[in-house]
Amino acid sequence: MTTDIIREDIELLQVIDYPDRFQEWKLLEYEKYLNNKMDVAKYEKLQSGISYKTGRKITVGKGTYKKLKSDLFNKYTCSFDRFSGIIPREYLKQTLRKNLNVDIECYKNETRNLKLYDINYRKNKLTTWKDYIEFEGKKYGTNRSIIDRIHIVRGCGGYVKHTNTETHYGNCRPFYNAPDRSVYTYTCSKCGHNFTTSKWPALFGYKKKWT
Ligand SMILES: [Zn+2]
Repeated sequence: MTTDIIREDIELLQVIDYPDRFQEWKLLEYEKYLNNKMDVAKYEKLQSGISYKTGRKITVGKGTYKKLKSDLFNKYTCSFDRFSGIIPREYLKQTLRKNLNVDIECYKNETRNLKLYDINYRKNKLTTWKDYIEFEGKKYGTNRSIIDRIHIVRGCGGYVKHTNTETHYGNCRPFYNAPDRSVYTYTCSKCGHNFTTSKWPALFGYKKKWT
């Protein structure tokens, strides 16, 4: 039976991205800040609604608070609202571990992809409809319908003739330039199946004499 042969290419595995993490330089800046106990104390005061300059109560999130906060973080390259609770060195180690896991995963995927690519390549080189390559318990066959002008689908064996060429005229408007395009029709002389393509007929096994 040729019906249980899979014709589609096996889908290759995708590249995996590194997880979203804070950048290293930001963490190192944060560490610098954590090591400056004065600044940490100032920030804690601010967060509890007290000006580190005057000791007066201020409203968190409002004008004075914002001003004092930006003064405080001026010497660092970013403010650290989102970093609270993070231990910089630990976080960076974690990032390395996570990225390494992604690398390992990608390496595995790429190794498998090489195999899958090879199966796809070899199956599509098969020249008859009933030939197949067995891979992990499944059968894979060629995805080509015409080889050397012979319609091979389900072993048809009919000769594929060029039966029509239609020219779709393009245009030459400003900003939109569409060239003329030819659509070729081919017909299997045995089963009557029509194929159309706008690509160069050589893809169908024709030599360049078709113009
Ligand atoms: Zn046919």
